Amino acid sequence: MKQTHTPTLMTATGLVRHYTMGQNVVRAIDGVDVHIARGEFVMVVGSSGSGKSTLLHLLGCLDTPDDGNYVIDGKTVSALADGPLSSLRNKHIGFVFQQFNLLNDLTVQENIALPLVYSAVDRTTRLARARKYAELMGLGDRLHHRPSELSGGEAQRVAIARALVTDPDIILADEPTGNLDSSTSRDIMDILHGLHDKGYTIVMVTHDTACAEEGTRKIVFKDGKIITDVKTAKKMTRSKGVAQATSKPSDAVERHGMPPLDLLRIGFREGLLTHKTQTALTMLGIVIAVAGVIAMSSFSLGSKKKQANQVRALGANLVKIIDNRLEGEKLSKARIAGSRGLSLSDLDLLKDTVPGVKRSAAVREIKMNIAGKSLDINPRILGVAGDYLQANHIEIDKGRFFDAYDDEHCARVAVLGHTVAEAFGEDCIGQSIVLGGTPYTIIGATASRQIDLKGLEATGVQDPNLDLLIPLSVMLARTKFIDMRSEIDEIHLQLETEELLYDAGTAIRRVLAVEHGGEEDFSLVVPLDLLKQKQQAQRLLDVLTICISSIALIVGGIGIMNIMLASVTERIREIGIRRAAGATKSDIKYQFLSESVLISVMGGIIGIIVAFVVVAVVCAAISLPFVVSPFAILLSVLAATITGLGFGLYPAMQAAEKNPVEALRHE
Ligand code: ADP
Ligand code: MG
Repeated sequence: MKQTHTPTLMTATGLVRHYTMGQNVVRAIDGVDVHIARGEFVMVVGSSGSGKSTLLHLLGCLDTPDDGNYVIDGKTVSALADGPLSSLRNKHIGFVFQQFNLLNDLTVQENIALPLVYSAVDRTTRLARARKYAELMGLGDRLHHRPSELSGGEAQRVAIARALVTDPDIILADEPTGNLDSSTSRDIMDILHGLHDKGYTIVMVTHDTACAEEGTRKIVFKDGKIITDVKTAKKMTRSKGVAQATSKPSDAVERHGMPPLDLLRIGFREGLLTHKTQTALTMLGIVIAVAGVIAMSSFSLGSKKKQANQVRALGANLVKIIDNRLEGEKLSKARIAGSRGLSLSDLDLLKDTVPGVKRSAAVREIKMNIAGKSLDINPRILGVAGDYLQANHIEIDKGRFFDAYDDEHCARVAVLGHTVAEAFGEDCIGQSIVLGGTPYTIIGATASRQIDLKGLEATGVQDPNLDLLIPLSVMLARTKFIDMRSEIDEIHLQLETEELLYDAGTAIRRVLAVEHGGEEDFSLVVPLDLLKQKQQAQRLLDVLTICISSIALIVGGIGIMNIMLASVTERIREIGIRRAAGATKSDIKYQFLSESVLISVMGGIIGIIVAFVVVAVVCAAISLPFVVSPFAILLSVLAATITGLGFGLYPAMQAAEKNPVEALRHE
């Protein structure tokens, strides 16, 4: 909005700015009326501490007056919220400072483009405009240099280019030549005069008495008040040549705010990359927490799966009915009640009545002396009938298993478990073994079963490698009538599918309850079920893992907060510079927030990768199945992001609330 008919650009009346320092009140600006018209080149002079900088900050909307009225470009400043105020600063005012105030982590070109970041100009356009203004200032060959590589004069030219890049109405320069030698000062003054000639309005604070006479007007300050305000030699200009020659930025409409991609780029490049060590260390906390959750849950899942696989390998879908081996009075009572204990007739009945029985076997265990060979292991001697091997997934390695003929004819034959066979020696087949005084011929040996009994105790599974099998008929013929003991010890039923296990259990109980006269002299064991119950109990461990990882995340989050707070303090000047360039409070807030979220999200992603590698390596090493829970991944990444947001918010708000003038004063 150009008001060529009313030349007044800024009108301040009764401006007051006091600083309270304990008991003392410093009247930095103490009732100032000033009108600045378009085309003026105002020189402000006065002794140090007289309030010149404070006035410039007030005119530039970097600071707010305690009293008085200030209208710029037709807008009353005191009525503006932070957003429109920042927009005003961004589009209408260009600052040039004594200390240049460039951002050291950015190139010359990026420094010049800085104000455009806050008027939603895309990066390509920003850099192109910055290049144009750099060339205007004779910095065409310095575009990719860092401020630290520039001379004072060059740095100040970068600062002037930055002030011009949004094509403002007015340039506020606070002792722009104060840090420069006399010849460089002259160059800068010539540039400023050139800009004034092109139509820019300039208000400049200076110490240099010669310079002070070069403008169109001179204001002398003393103790926060204007004591002299006189016209000087230079002619006022009418139009703003540069502004008309160069098209207004594409955002001539009042638009403000940073594109999200820019926000992330700035967070990453200007925040994280320039503080690599800090970033890496903070990220480490998140990485460990996320990797921890995923790896722990993977190991837990993996070992559960391994146990389940083993139980299945030992005989999938298996239900065992085990005789309770009652003794003494209980035994007599059961027998009187009409129960014979577990018997072969129970087996026949169950085969007929339980749905989905695929295979079945009967087992009787008996303690017998083993003679004829001294073994340093103690095998379980089992009499077995039916599909014992298949139901328990045991295979024959050498020789053969006894068949129906052996069973019918009570053949005295034995099959050794793998470990027993090994103890017996290479050529065990055909040899004799004396069990309870009777010789048996070894006709076969079973293949080794690789199982890890640790973790399976609860399932009642025993190592089949340690068994010595003989036909049940032989064992019964020799031992049937030992006191009142039940005929058999175990019935194994293999079902068609795992899903039938539960129903089968119910059916078995019902059938045997009738058959055993209601006596509870048997137990049902479903290894898979037992395992699942046990694994339920392990949930506690999982919960614990999640708790520990959450603590790690919180510690990581506190790390983020800590580093961000330090970062805010360390970069306070940067905050001031950005605010002067037109950043709103929320621009600053989101910039710092984007850094903390980036740290945590990147930490989360690295954590996932680390977890995959660790899980893969460990699982391969200890032969666990590789399972990664998508839920754990989701949970931990979500938690990491929330941590970043949560713990980043406070420092970001601290950054946003910094007073720009104080931030700029910061050393
Ligand atoms: P000048 O630029 O003319 O040297 P300033 O405008 O910087 O003077 O300062 C004017 C007065 O206000 C000085 O006495 C200074 O100490 C005081 N002052 C400026 N800023 C602050 C502040 N943030 N807190 C307290 N006193 C301040
Ligand atoms: Mg000053």
